[in-house]
Amino acid sequence: MSNKIKIATTSLAGCFGCHMSFLDIDERITALAEVVEFDRSPLTDIEHCGPCDIGLIEGGVCNSENVHVLREFRKNCKVLVAVGACAINGGLPALRNFVSVEACLLEAYRDGIGVDNPQIPNDPELPLLLDKVHPIHEIVKVDYFMPGCPPSADVFWTFLSALIEGREPSLPYELVHYD
Ligand code: SF4
Repeated sequence: MSNKIKIATTSLAGCFGCHMSFLDIDERITALAEVVEFDRSPLTDIEHCGPCDIGLIEGGVCNSENVHVLREFRKNCKVLVAVGACAINGGLPALRNFVSVEACLLEAYRDGIGVDNPQIPNDPELPLLLDKVHPIHEIVKVDYFMPGCPPSADVFWTFLSALIEGREPSLPYELVHYD
């Protein structure tokens, strides 16, 4: 059995920008691949999160599927990290919390400029929107918060290096930003 550190990642109500920033570690990813194995992630083809050492969550929680996936990660990951502004405080998508879900749906699917064949999607396979967008710590316990929109590649590197080596992650002042 592999003794590599297992990492799972996902994007909930995120934009994939945090994942893109993670990939900005560039050639350092080869060093990472020496010690790490990816479980469920947009970078792999694995559908469900199995037992993992570290779970990286991008995005807040905006629909029922997000809740389900987040709980699956929490159940399976020893350490869960809120990655980026959306996971930490809801981020820009949480601006929709100032209007009702109904108003959002009507604007997007019925009344918005350029809407053709107006109808609100209601296929039972579609996850239902929650009333509000939530930061992930309102749904599950979070062990660490990685700030930034997105966190820079150096933040990812600093954080992951510490977690992999069993050290407490801490960021130098110049890497701490929320934008
Ligand atoms: S924190 Fe920023 S980059 Fe990351 S998912 Fe949210 S909007 Fe995208």
